[in-house]
Amino acid sequence: MSLLVQTARCIALAFTLCVVAATAQERPTPLPPTDLAGLRWTNAYFPGTTYRVAVPTGDSLLGFPIGHRAANSVEIEKCIKAWVAAAPDRTRLVEYARTHENRPLHYVVVTAPRNLARLDDIQNSTARLGDPRTISDEEAKRIIDTLTPVAWLGYTIHGDETEGSDAALAVLYHLIAADDPGVSKLLEEVVVIIDPLQNPDGRDRFLKMIAESRGTTPNVDDQSLQHTGYAPWGRGNHYFFDLNRDSLFGVHPETRGRMKEVSRWNPVLVVDAHGMGGQDTHLFSPPREPINVHVPPSRERWSKLFAREQAAAFDRYGLVYYHGEWNEDWYPGYTDNWPAFRGSVGILYEQARIAEDGVRRPEGRILSYRESVFHHVVSSIANLATVQANGKPLLENFYSIRKGACAADGPYARRTFAVLPTANRARLEKFLKLTQLHGFEVFQSGNEFTATSATDQLGRELKDQKHPAGTILIPARQPLGHLVAATLDFDPRISPRALEEERQEILRNGQSRIYDTTAWNLTMMFGLPALSLPIGLPDSAKPYALTERAERGVISPVGSPVGYAIDGADDLSVTAAARLMERRVQVRAAEKAFEFDGQKFARGSVVITRLDNRGFASDLRQAIDAVTRELGVRAIAIRSGLGEGDLPDLGGEHFKRLEPPRIALLSRSGSNIYDVGEIWFFLDHDLGIRHARVSVESEADLSRYNVVILPERSGGPLPGSWTNRLKDWVKAGGTLIAMGNAATQLGDQKAEFSKVRALPDVLNKLGDYELAVFREWLAREGELPAADAVWAHKAAPGLKYPWQSVEGTHAEEKELKKRDAWLKLFMPQGSLLATRMDAKHWLTFGCEEPLPVLAFRDPVLMAAEGVEVPVRLGYLTKAASPLAAPAKPEKSDPPDTAKKEKPEPPRVGWSALPAGTEMHLRMSGLLWPEATHRLANSAYVTRESLGRGQIILFATGPAFRAATLGPARLMLNAMIYGPGFGAAQPIRP
Ligand SMILES: [Zn+2]
Repeated sequence: MSLLVQTARCIALAFTLCVVAATAQERPTPLPPTDLAGLRWTNAYFPGTTYRVAVPTGDSLLGFPIGHRAANSVEIEKCIKAWVAAAPDRTRLVEYARTHENRPLHYVVVTAPRNLARLDDIQNSTARLGDPRTISDEEAKRIIDTLTPVAWLGYTIHGDETEGSDAALAVLYHLIAADDPGVSKLLEEVVVIIDPLQNPDGRDRFLKMIAESRGTTPNVDDQSLQHTGYAPWGRGNHYFFDLNRDSLFGVHPETRGRMKEVSRWNPVLVVDAHGMGGQDTHLFSPPREPINVHVPPSRERWSKLFAREQAAAFDRYGLVYYHGEWNEDWYPGYTDNWPAFRGSVGILYEQARIAEDGVRRPEGRILSYRESVFHHVVSSIANLATVQANGKPLLENFYSIRKGACAADGPYARRTFAVLPTANRARLEKFLKLTQLHGFEVFQSGNEFTATSATDQLGRELKDQKHPAGTILIPARQPLGHLVAATLDFDPRISPRALEEERQEILRNGQSRIYDTTAWNLTMMFGLPALSLPIGLPDSAKPYALTERAERGVISPVGSPVGYAIDGADDLSVTAAARLMERRVQVRAAEKAFEFDGQKFARGSVVITRLDNRGFASDLRQAIDAVTRELGVRAIAIRSGLGEGDLPDLGGEHFKRLEPPRIALLSRSGSNIYDVGEIWFFLDHDLGIRHARVSVESEADLSRYNVVILPERSGGPLPGSWTNRLKDWVKAGGTLIAMGNAATQLGDQKAEFSKVRALPDVLNKLGDYELAVFREWLAREGELPAADAVWAHKAAPGLKYPWQSVEGTHAEEKELKKRDAWLKLFMPQGSLLATRMDAKHWLTFGCEEPLPVLAFRDPVLMAAEGVEVPVRLGYLTKAASPLAAPAKPEKSDPPDTAKKEKPEPPRVGWSALPAGTEMHLRMSGLLWPEATHRLANSAYVTRESLGRGQIILFATGPAFRAATLGPARLMLNAMIYGPGFGAAQPIRP
């Protein structure tokens, strides 16, 4: 037993012992732990270094040596503040953001006094270098000759991969305190920025789990609670989001703060230090394929150089490591990948993760926490040395990446993304704010303009189309062109080699090699119609600056209006409705578009009538004004409730009274924490209304709620007792919203709950489901029978049934099962798919076809009789030729007079396409043809009545990373409008 371990354990237990000592005469002493040789790894991180006495040691600040155990966020803050205070000649401390739990996020700049005195100059010069349009090559060279490169090292973005932060402390102390010519020279030649803890909320949550699981003896079994923690673990932030995916969407303060600072500093190196399985070794960049097509090609060369020197450092200590293997860089939102598109070299570290003490490995060796921390120290110091030795070439690399993106003959010269004008201002503003965060130059067309060609989000070529004035334009030809293209390219393709390997892996092992989603296009994620134009910026384009909305609050030329209306095309209308109801205002939502006083309103618009609110305790107008003002939307006062022409009148059935939602979000005990966190985030941040997160471990009284949200399950099905209670509660008038695999659980035949089924359970009834597809389409687009037939006096034989348009019946169930198992192998890893929707359904308020949705390896929802399908996978258009798909005969073929009969429409998977249509499914990302045949025509959202209540099912979690804003609108509609629209509400005495 090392003295170190024993000391810390005593400290850890001191509090308990004191309490015991105060209450009992005899003080129990823990029995001394048996000695474990591997825990004795007490090597110095930097042997032989002399440190300045003015800088307090980690021991003196923490009460234990750095890396002896994981320091929490308060301890880390204490260290860095003390060091910065003691070494103002080498350091600057910057608090760059606060977490959701109000913990500060810091970085420390460590560099020589000479650099410290000109940090602004370094930032400005790097920024100039970053915009090659404004400088000549000679000027760039002059800047590079005197510029000090910046290296950014970030640690522990996943809170339970704790080693990183302790390594950051070790590296920080060394750089700040070392009285060493080598360190002084490094600091002369590099500005080092260290962010020791990128996810303090997650880390502290995890360390609390570790502390409460700690016993009297060191623990080296990585299966024990002391190493694993428990749900929701510490990986995610407060809302359980994976911050190492958030650089694309910038949802969280931790990410937004970091993105702004990385943009300000333009570091040549960005390190992101993680942890992986405790039995693993150490991984670093470069990654393997697939690598994002917009990553600057030079990154590979640089990553290899960094890796060689990193490997050499590990070799010196006799340590082992690897690169590539599972690590790929297709998704651009990783913390180390995002900066690569901006011209940095991004590097990932992954170290065998030990929560504390150590982990025993199969060979018997114990890897101690401190030694594990040391691996990150070795990597960090090696990478800093590479930057030091290659400062100028790295700055030249940065300049040439930016220059290439701006070049008139470069890959991005003729590529502009156009986001079309929309009435959904909230959605567009969210998108524009995100482009600002990324640092994109955004323009707007002043006039209508024509582009000879354009590609839409379905991959269709449009010729000579006119694009309206007000179109948002983002040219890829700009300094951040690589990032613009990486985030907005509709359809980046994985290399043929990587694709081949992916398919082989699926066939061999039944799993994907791709580590994250294969699609993320920002306009599709946000559900904003956009085009890709093969042109530079049109002449009429002007720089676009996002401004505050001019009109907010109640807009009223009317003295005493009959009511007020908020346009439903805007996502914030749902928020307004929710917040007004929370203030006890009576609110309605319009099922149809309407027009009052010459003002047009979209369906889903929110209406507040004076009559409904006669009982409202305070000034109605003031309440509406306050709510709409804080959201930045407008409420228009209505003089008359008479609809224009056939449009609805205010007193008719189309203005449904909403029932205030009382929402419970089921959590814990096997709930998928990501899905829980995402829905919770929307409730808090997009609606800002009160709700309860209810534990499935409890027997909560459901009668307090009229909306229950059941997120996806990651730990087995919902307990049967809950299923039964939920069923009774729905029958009594509840609106149950269930996601993904939780949805199919309700559709289990035995549960007798939902009528929706998972695909393999209905392979013997595919005809019924196919008929539902036909009926739905005919109800929407079907042609009338000929007038002669309708008005004929004689009954005529020879009626044609919709299913007779399909050749042949479905195969035998046994064959279908075999096929389905085969197709299931190829289910997507996150692809953006096009849908069609019922534009008369209240769930689709504020949505437009072809609403993009993300599809994963989730269950496939099947809905027929008695179930509404407001959104179905597969966007249908009229076929270009009168027939759906058959290939046209080759021109050389002689005319075949024998084949006069119309070829029948073929089936896509289990359903034929309605006659005369063609289906668009894949929008972006990898979707194997096999998966197309499984997913096409399946339900994305369903709604059905049960008793006085209703069940709404989503095929996949609709709030993915708080970025799938189209599906999220469906979810918000379900939560806020559900009790009013789909469920019967009692009139309370
Ligand atoms: Zn990680």
